[in-house]
Amino acid sequence: MIDFTVRVGVFFLVFSTLVLWQWLSPRAMLLQWRQRWWHNMSLFALGALCVRVIQPLLLSVIAFSSSEFGLFWWLDLPFWAVFLFSILLLDCLIYWQHRLFHRIPLLWRIHRVHHSDPELDVSSAVRFHPVEIVLSLFFKGLAVWLLGVPVAAVLAFDVLLNASAMFNHTNVRLPVIIETWLKKLLVTPDMHRIHHSRVSLEANSNFGFFLSIWDALFRTKRNDALEGDEHLKIGLPDTKTYQPTSLKDVLVMPFTVFKKHR
Ligand SMILES: [Zn+2]
Repeated sequence: MIDFTVRVGVFFLVFSTLVLWQWLSPRAMLLQWRQRWWHNMSLFALGALCVRVIQPLLLSVIAFSSSEFGLFWWLDLPFWAVFLFSILLLDCLIYWQHRLFHRIPLLWRIHRVHHSDPELDVSSAVRFHPVEIVLSLFFKGLAVWLLGVPVAAVLAFDVLLNASAMFNHTNVRLPVIIETWLKKLLVTPDMHRIHHSRVSLEANSNFGFFLSIWDALFRTKRNDALEGDEHLKIGLPDTKTYQPTSLKDVLVMPFTVFKKHR
């Protein structure tokens, strides 16, 4: 119960702070926010419902099958080291999961819902198809089980990842000096905007959600948009102007045949 309260409490605190920030000093004019917020918040509600049903089942399976199972139990490290490595490894795995969602055509069908947002703001951070939410939950559950990640580290990681994802989708611009230093360690809004480009070369870079070190390490980091930030077109890669016009469009997107260059 404490777990749930912390997750929900931090989520709404961070979300409302970022909404206020982007409202006070928006980076770009958002022309379609009403429709986008309807789509994004509906997906958020559906995803949250799926998590509420599946997460307790998954956790009870993990708890039942292992009290002292997983890599960290066998290594017998001090708790602070387990905590730190848990967060680092989970973040690295999420980076690779994100790359797979772009690489494997079947997974891309699901993940393209996230990329079909024609503008970016904090609400884009919760725009994921429920199928992607469920798959991610199983993927993370498997990683937590195999690594033997302690419950406190899972909670800390989830809170950090969600807060960071909301931050790097926010429609704000950081002062250049802060942006330059921050992106050496963390994924910034400038970096993540490039990942939402309609140009597929740009969309296949900056896969991180929390730490930017994985993109640097695995050579997918892109600091600047190809034609400069002012010419960066946000939306579904390989399309010129396409955007879903209804919530139904968004929900059936993984199951529809999709023509490129629309
Ligand atoms: Zn992506």
